[in-house]
Amino acid sequence: MPTSTRPDLLLPAEPGQRALARELYALVARLPVISPHGHVDPGLLADDEPFPDPSRLLIVPDHYLTRMLFSQGVLPAELGVPTRDGSPVETDGRRIWRRFAEHWHLFRGTPSRLWLEQTLTEVFGLDARLSPQTADEVYDALAARLAEPDFRPRALFERFNIEVLATTESPLDDLSRHAKLAADGWGGPGGRVVTTFRPDNVVDLEFEDWSANVDRLGEITGEDTGTYQGYLAALRARREAFIAAGATSSDHGHLTARTLDLGADAAALFDRARRGRAEPGDTEAFQAHMLLEFARMSLDDGLVMQLHPGAVRNHNRWLHARHGRDVGGDVPQATEFVHALAPLLDAYGNDPRLRVVLYTLDEDTFTRELAPLAGGYAALVLGAPWWFLDSPEVLRRFRETVTETAGFYNTAGFVDDTRAFCSIPVRHDVARRVDAGFLARLVAEHRLPMDEAAETIVDLAYRLPKQVFKFGEKQA
Ligand SMILES: [Zn+2]
Repeated sequence: MPTSTRPDLLLPAEPGQRALARELYALVARLPVISPHGHVDPGLLADDEPFPDPSRLLIVPDHYLTRMLFSQGVLPAELGVPTRDGSPVETDGRRIWRRFAEHWHLFRGTPSRLWLEQTLTEVFGLDARLSPQTADEVYDALAARLAEPDFRPRALFERFNIEVLATTESPLDDLSRHAKLAADGWGGPGGRVVTTFRPDNVVDLEFEDWSANVDRLGEITGEDTGTYQGYLAALRARREAFIAAGATSSDHGHLTARTLDLGADAAALFDRARRGRAEPGDTEAFQAHMLLEFARMSLDDGLVMQLHPGAVRNHNRWLHARHGRDVGGDVPQATEFVHALAPLLDAYGNDPRLRVVLYTLDEDTFTRELAPLAGGYAALVLGAPWWFLDSPEVLRRFRETVTETAGFYNTAGFVDDTRAFCSIPVRHDVARRVDAGFLARLVAEHRLPMDEAAETIVDLAYRLPKQVFKFGEKQA
């Protein structure tokens, strides 16, 4: 799904480098998409129902969009974002779309604008430029497309040329949607849609209903999660079930990157927390300790660990109280890796059986901490710029700040991390264009011959993510 309407989008402005970048981009423009981390609802592909109206597809679930309008005084409820207490929100898709279009100028210079524009032109084939004046015209054209069979989720998946898409589920998920996908020939080990093991809701003591979640974990697995050993056994059992559903990785969204081996104290801490008597510091210590436990489990079952630290969740407390989690109320904080990861790296950092993909929301750490760590430990690989950082400018700065120390081959390839299914090809295309521009500069400066740049860009777009996330490998 390469771009046709703006062929030189994001390529270098300097004509010599642009010519080189065009050549490099052409090598990867049509390669299959490997999407090893994201938040697409697997039910979308399991059921393959037509998408709802354009607003419910493109605006309501996209917190990058709703938070920007919120910052300018448009309430989430006016954009159809559901409330926790069920109090009414706007349900008219056209009215939501018009309200959004009235504020379209807010997105000038943002990646959200780029992704949505590219989605409208490249995915939906629309010519009209979005504005308050064209809002109805664009809405009607989108609604007409969404009614066509070619715009059902599975048809789009084919057209997007996605080779593998990983979704993200909690250990409490029954994986029934993945079972349906497997029954239809779409899922299971080595399948096109696979899951990812994300245990935050049974590991973070401050997660809503943590203790009830741990009870539920026991019911699902038949293990006694009243004890710490039973809890670990239950987690191991769920990992096995996830691997059977195609998972090749786990994902850990912690406030910090801290790791810790509590040893025998872990069981005492767990007991305290289960009795509702957790002490200050227990939440972070337990999460830190569990990263070591999960690393040990990975040595046995082969799941790649993804570590996503640094998001202060629900920073906007009004938004959380009113609309719940994952609606744009999170804000990054400074994150320290060098000391935080030392216990994990002391134990397993040189063990080639372990693979940890590290992400950050703190751009300052790329050169100072992350590139030297990934450039020196066998177990570590750098994940792509994520969330607030997955923009063209930061993708470019990522290559500029890490390559000289970590090279290209200690990085994991692009990750779209998106809930917005229709933006997947667009986001991968942006990353490929940025890499083409970066490699073109190395060629123009006589730092890399063209044939090696050509091999590298194919590795970054396709071979590396497949290899890092073990797609196409037989699992333990
Ligand atoms: Zn994610």
